[in-house]
Amino acid sequence: MDESKYDRQVTLLCPACGSDQFSFDDEEEDGPVKCVNCGRETTRDELIAENGETIEAHVAEVGEEVTADIAKELNKSLRDAFKGNKHIRFK
Ligand SMILES: [Zn+2]
Repeated sequence: MDESKYDRQVTLLCPACGSDQFSFDDEEEDGPVKCVNCGRETTRDELIAENGETIEAHVAEVGEEVTADIAKELNKSLRDAFKGNKHIRFK
């Protein structure tokens, strides 16, 4: 199993300090997860639940940004298209 691949997909952050470095026992699925930076101990389930809101907020933020970017691009290409037409018309 490639664990590092999974790590990259979802980065769990410590809700207390924002660190993404945790120490935990790989053998013990329900064992405690300890933040390496501030020492806060939690469980995997708790950590995932606490990160759930962050992840959702992040996705919503990214979604809005993408929409704004598409709108900007669309406006730009519309302007360019008009510019182009004008240019052709007055040539
Ligand atoms: Zn921490």
